This record gives sequence, structure tokens and C-alpha cells, in this order.
Amino acid sequence: MDAMSHRDDPHADLREEVAKLCARFPGEYWRRMDEVRGYPTEFVNALTEAGYLAALIPEEYGGAGLGLSAAAAILEEVQRQGCNGAACHAQMYIMGTILRHGSEAQKSEYLPKIASGELRLQAFGVTEPTSGTDTTALRTTARREGDKYIVNGQKIWTSRAEHSDLMLLLARTTPRDQVAKKTEGLSTFIVDMRTVLDKGLSIRPIRTMMNHNSCEVFFDNMEVPAENLVGEEGRGFRYILDGMNAERLLIAAECIGDAKWFIEKAVNYAKERVLFNRPIGQNQGVQFPIARAYAQMRAAEAIVQKGLEKFERGERPGEEANMGKMLAAEASWAAGEACIQTHGGFGFAEEYDIERKFRETRLYQVAPISTNLILSYLGEHVLGMPRSY
Ligand SMILES: Cc1cc2nc3c(=O)[nH]c(=O)nc-3n(C[C@H](O)[C@H](O)[C@H](O)COP(=O)(O)OP(=O)(O)OC[C@H]3O[C@@H](n4cnc5c(N)ncnc54)[C@H](O)[C@@H]3O)c2cc1C
Repeated sequence: MDAMSHRDDPHADLREEVAKLCARFPGEYWRRMDEVRGYPTEFVNALTEAGYLAALIPEEYGGAGLGLSAAAAILEEVQRQGCNGAACHAQMYIMGTILRHGSEAQKSEYLPKIASGELRLQAFGVTEPTSGTDTTALRTTARREGDKYIVNGQKIWTSRAEHSDLMLLLARTTPRDQVAKKTEGLSTFIVDMRTVLDKGLSIRPIRTMMNHNSCEVFFDNMEVPAENLVGEEGRGFRYILDGMNAERLLIAAECIGDAKWFIEKAVNYAKERVLFNRPIGQNQGVQFPIARAYAQMRAAEAIVQKGLEKFERGERPGEEANMGKMLAAEASWAAGEACIQTHGGFGFAEEYDIERKFRETRLYQVAPISTNLILSYLGEHVLGMPRSY
């Protein structure tokens, strides 16, 4: 066992299988995708066929019925092997909203097809250009008209919208000035994008610093059948919040995987690269940033582990999910920084994959929730200080 494996890991076999699958998608594959900003369809199909993206879907709906720690192990391993789970990670957690709050008809209609790969649920339409983190200020509206809703507005950063069949959409069904609390009056919908594309829905990709297939989406009198409302009208914000701990723990697991990938690369290179008649890793100036990133990664991993255990016991791991996400994103960034520095000029050469992973992992200090908002959560909800916004 190497230094970065998990001791007494209940998911060791699962990780090994995921690693084998990932070996079919080496650095060249990701570099090519990165260059053309392509969607890694073959990789996503392989994960789907192996059942990994349906890890959290209960067996009665065709999934593997595994716990969140198994899903975290899958995503961590994907990142650790140098692949990019961002192409599909959302499918793992978005479906939780349908599972927890959807009707039996919605669950039996969608979950088996998502599990089999017949339908992709990759798109999550929450963020808007004017509201950003202030989610309840979103402006997209859904107005009930008979047996359908008419949706108008715009989302931004709707990742994978072009590569998904379904979108989970958050829209306002009651104006903000007509609800007692701003968190009320928002509703969640399953949008079958295949039926409305270019008929009320348009999608525009946004080129970003890394390959993330993110988009702007526009709704112009887009019709959504009323039966696609998830749960009760007006309670959508609560449903989205319910999924956030799982989302944060899974993203944290990805960052831990990234950190391990960077640390492993850095350690190997530090041992191999000989200058002034000795390996560069013999210099403390080279060793210490790597060792520090390792310590940061291990600390984050312990918190994430605690969060996963709480989640699987049915408790609310808000504190661990938030801290774990922040610490893991900082650890992966520290590890990326140490890795690029250890490699000197070669860290910038595309063929080493380091600069690509460096760009990819930076995102997680901003999305799906930025560091400041995590600190606000801790300040207010854990430490009891006044709400800051
Ligand atoms: C590549 C990418 C993919 C994404 N994918 C999705 C997706 O699939 N679906 C989706 O809905 N969204 C997605 N997002 C959106 C992401 O969740 C938001 O970018 C993120 O929540 C931050 O919101 P914002 O960009 O509007 O920044 P803002 O909310 O405008 O914040 C800007 C800065 O101000 C800080 N700030 C804001 N308010 C406060 C405050 N009260 N106190 C202290 N600091 C504050 C923030 O921390 C941040 O650093 C994605 C974003 C990116 C870049």
C-alpha cells in the first residue's frame, strides 16, 4: 500500500475497478478533449455502462444502491487517475432531488433510464447572471397555465447542458414580494430538454479556462408539463438545499483525488530529477511544499470521511460537508502549486498534464460554492455569529 491509499478501506476493490476503467482514458485522451473543448462521451459512457454513475440510485430503480462513501470513492479515484469527473459528477447528486422529493411516477419514469444511461441528467440550472450566489434573488419565472408551466428567464454556468437530456431547474413560481420568506415561492422542475430545444430553450456554450462544457441557457416561453414539477410548488429551494451536503462531500472527494494525483507526480519527479548531483527532492525547499500539501490533503480527507459517515447515518453533516469542501479545494490547489513548482518548466508543458489539472482543480474554490460563502456558513451556523448577508 502506498502512502496515499486508505487504511482499512471498505471501498478498496471499487477503487481498483475504477482505476482499471480510467486506465483506458490516459492523458492524451484528456489533452485532446481539452484542446477542442470536447465532451468526453466515451469516458462518460464507460462510467455509465459500469454502473458507477448510478451508484446512488436505489436497486429498485436499476441503480447500485450504494452509499455516499462509495460514490465519493468513485469520484476520488477518477480524479486520482488523472481523469476529469466534472464531465458527469452532477448526475450522481442531482438525481437525489428526484429520489427524495419526486413523485412515484417521476421516480419510476426517470431513475431507471438515468441508471441505464438511456437518459442523461447532467444539467443543473440554478445560477443566474444577476443573482449569482444570492440564489433566492433569481429572476427566472415559471407561471402555471392549465396543465403546464411557462418558463422565462436565463441561467448561466449550466454545465453540460448540451450533453444532457434532462435539466433540473429552479425557478420562481411566486414573486418574491408575495412570499413571507425569500426562500419560499421557488420551485424545482424536471425539464426534458430534448422536447424544448429551439422551442423556448436555447443553449450557448461558454469557453472557460478549463474544459468544463458550461453554458448559458435562455428560456423564452418554454413550456414544461405541470407533471414535471418536483414535490410541492414553492418548496424548491428547500429541495435543492437538501442535496447540497452530498454535492459538497462529493466535490471534496474529487479535490482529494486531484491532490493525490499532484502529490504522487511531484514526489516521483522530485526523486527522479537530478541536479547538482542529487535528486531535487533532497532539498527541503522542494520537499516541504509537497509535504505540506500532503498534510492539508490528509486533514481534509479526515473531515470528509467524518461527513460521509454522518451522512450515511442519516445525520446532517452541514459542518463537515462545508469544511471538507473548502479544505479539500485548498489542499488540491496547494498540491497543484507544489507539483507545478517541483516540475520547473516541465510543469507548464501540456504533455505532463499538470497544467491541465492545475486549471481544472482551481474551479472548486469557486463552484459549486465559493470559499467565502462556506466561511459565512461556519461563522453563522456553526459558531453562532450574526448573519453577514
Ligand atoms: C465552470 C463552472 C461551472 C459551473 N456549473 C454550474 C452548474 O452546473 N449549475 C449551476 O447552477 N451553477 C454552476 N456554476 C456556478 C457556480 O455555482 C457559481 O459560479 C458560484 O456559486 C459563485 O457564484 P457567482 O459566480 O455568481 O459569483 P458571485 O455570487 O457573484 O460572487 C463573486 C465573489 O464574491 C464573493 N461573495 C459574494 N457574496 C458574498 C458575501 N455575502 N460575503 C463574502 N463574499 C461574497 C464570492 O465568494 C465570490 O468570490 C458553475 C460555475 C463555473 C465557473
